[in-house]
Amino acid sequence: MAFDKIRSSQPMVVQLLENSVKKDRLSHAYLFEGEMGTKKFETALYFAQMLLCTNEKKPCLTCHNCRRIASQTHPNVYIIEPNKGIIKKQQITDLQTEFSKTGVEKGPKIYIIKEIECVNVNAANSLLKFLEEPTPNTYAILTTTNINKLLPTIISRSQVVQFSSLSKVIIQEELEEMGYPVQTALIIANVTSSVSEAIDIANNEFFMSILDLVKELNNIIASQDESIIIYFGENSSIIYQDNSLSQLFLSLLIIYQKDIINYKINDQKHIVFTDEIESIESIASNKTKNRLIEELESMLSLKAKLNSYINERLAYDNLLLSLERR
Ligand SMILES: [Zn+2]
Repeated sequence: MAFDKIRSSQPMVVQLLENSVKKDRLSHAYLFEGEMGTKKFETALYFAQMLLCTNEKKPCLTCHNCRRIASQTHPNVYIIEPNKGIIKKQQITDLQTEFSKTGVEKGPKIYIIKEIECVNVNAANSLLKFLEEPTPNTYAILTTTNINKLLPTIISRSQVVQFSSLSKVIIQEELEEMGYPVQTALIIANVTSSVSEAIDIANNEFFMSILDLVKELNNIIASQDESIIIYFGENSSIIYQDNSLSQLFLSLLIIYQKDIINYKINDQKHIVFTDEIESIESIASNKTKNRLIEELESMLSLKAKLNSYINERLAYDNLLLSLERR
């Protein structure tokens, strides 16, 4: 994870932290709250770099301190994480011992506790005492994906910093960095604004089949040489296996439909299914803009109804029939 990306991933959080450093209004404890993948831990290290950087522009990311924090080897930055899902009292005691040692360098001391919701009762009590009697120049950064699981006393002693879901561009970049092809990354980034959900989708064993199904259905509509209902009947069994797959199918169908509309109104730069331009062009030239928009509306309204009890097969058949109508 490149630290220069923290700014673009969580601009509001970075600004908040920068302001508190500049105005010298630092809290003794911060609680970073946000879903998985929102870069809470990386931001905690970035914050530590801000506090310990020895250069003018903080953090410079290049000085000895910044580099040691990035590699998690700076003695003033202590990291605690759950072991088998639990943070124990001993880990909190070790932290206190460590920070009283001479090995710690002068300047701010920062401890980061990952997944603070995993703290057991004894550890929580030790930590609360530590938070209640803050030692000067010592800062706690606690991170959590679920603030509802925390003791109110921990929340009330911290400044809560909310992390937002990441933008499409960031999600796309994350998936590309993980090795997913550009096209796949772009499509998934348009399905969800949650990194963890994006990774789940990318790893879903049925994702490629559902993607192919959506492409093939549109290729049939474009070429008009086969019955879409028969093809769908023979190839759609995967989407009925569970509701999330059905949702995914419809989400992809909607993105494809938006592509056709974007093509129709000459907005090619927002097209997601870039490898499908031929079919997109052919469908766009066969249908009016109004009809394409009506079709999109039926897809959206079906998506809203998917969670309630409906005859899914019948609903899909009706939708596809209307897409095929000449
Ligand atoms: Zn630095």
